[in-house]
Amino acid sequence: ELDTAGWQALDSAHYLHPFTDHANLAKTGSRVAVRGEGVYVWDNNGDRIIDGLSGLGCVNIGYGRPELAKAVYDQMLDLSYCQSFFNTTHRSAVELADTLTSMLPEGLNHVFFQSSGSEANETAVRLIRKYWDLVGRPEKRVIIARELAYHGSTHMAASLSGITPMHYAGGDLPLPGIARINTPYQYRHGANMTADDFGVVAARWLEDKILEIGPENVAAFFAEPAQSAGGAICPPMTYWPEVQRICRKYDVLLVADEVVCGFGRTGDWFGCYHYGFVPDIMQLGKGLTSGYLPLSACVISDRITDVLIGLGGEWAHGYTYSGHPACCAVALENIRILREEKIVENAKAELVPYFKAKLETFVDHPLIGDVRSVGLMGGLEIVKDKKTGESYLYEEHIGPYCSAEAMKRGLAFRANGDTMSLMPPLVITKDQLDTVFDIAREALDATAKHLGK
Ligand code: PLP
Repeated sequence: ELDTAGWQALDSAHYLHPFTDHANLAKTGSRVAVRGEGVYVWDNNGDRIIDGLSGLGCVNIGYGRPELAKAVYDQMLDLSYCQSFFNTTHRSAVELADTLTSMLPEGLNHVFFQSSGSEANETAVRLIRKYWDLVGRPEKRVIIARELAYHGSTHMAASLSGITPMHYAGGDLPLPGIARINTPYQYRHGANMTADDFGVVAARWLEDKILEIGPENVAAFFAEPAQSAGGAICPPMTYWPEVQRICRKYDVLLVADEVVCGFGRTGDWFGCYHYGFVPDIMQLGKGLTSGYLPLSACVISDRITDVLIGLGGEWAHGYTYSGHPACCAVALENIRILREEKIVENAKAELVPYFKAKLETFVDHPLIGDVRSVGLMGGLEIVKDKKTGESYLYEEHIGPYCSAEAMKRGLAFRANGDTMSLMPPLVITKDQLDTVFDIAREALDATAKHLGK
């Protein structure tokens, strides 16, 4: 067995981590995680970390549920793999598709499975383009996405994303056919308005863009109900109904990327229920399996499948692991537990108000310019000047500094730009939330000290 330094040396030598500054990692070394239970993860030195992030916004049910391990084990013994390309199906995928469609708004009746949120977004774009071709309107090609969006790291998903470092200079991203509008980020774009008014104003940016491009050229609007990686940007309640009205008016498909928002993150089962709208396509991932195995779902409305299936012919799209039996079995078990233990409902009633109240105590912190949250997704935005809202800017690495201070004290607390994000598992207790916020405050205090504040 290697010691920590040994693991870190091997890690640096061979393992290229996602979204990581490797020069920095070589200095700090990785923490070597070995076990997870509930809201905690332990490293190889026995140090415990409270996971304020549910991994990457996925471990909604908490770590280490034996029922999920058993579901995988049983499924693998019964049927470890099943292709679904050539007239074959299997029970777990069918049951999961049936379960998901029964939980979602009426009219969303078909599910396409893949392994990741990025791939679900690829599926959605290919489907949208195919749909408009099939109905004889191939000129409807432009997809409107938003600033600060995160839709994944494959070429199309990264192109849809509005996090600019993903569109490297001189590279081939974003792909053509994508237009961008601003996001309902009230602190930056509407601080002088009421939330209700700002929601409508921000939705009208979509209408302006559709009219600029010409509705006959616009295929879809693509957005997360609340933006997670963009820095917990939670729209006013007036935003989504107005977006839906605009999409219907101009015959633009409405696509909800619920990879983070789905399965309870917003306090309701799905973001579209929380914000009151019905998408034409919805992407699910992460919380679908609580991160136990990789699985995502692209859920599709009858409007689209009636054409796709009705006109016949093959849709040339799919993955070897579409609807993998073990992943579907674990998703079914995850949903069973979430339902039977009323995890989403309890979180909404007990934890969400507590989480919000705790977050709001940071309004007075010398570093914090804005506090925002929906459900159990929260953000504390660090600013240089509280009066003007002047930002430290991503490049100054203030967020990562604060994140490292939190990790030293045993809390996973993420920096999204200058916004410190929290997305704890839905099974966290109030006492555990107290610990999360105590450490978050210590980390912010240490950051303030570092900045001479
Ligand atoms: N969509 C959203 C809203 C996400 O937050 C993410 C990942 O964080 C993705 C898509 C991409 O999912 P994956 O990392 O599983 O490809």
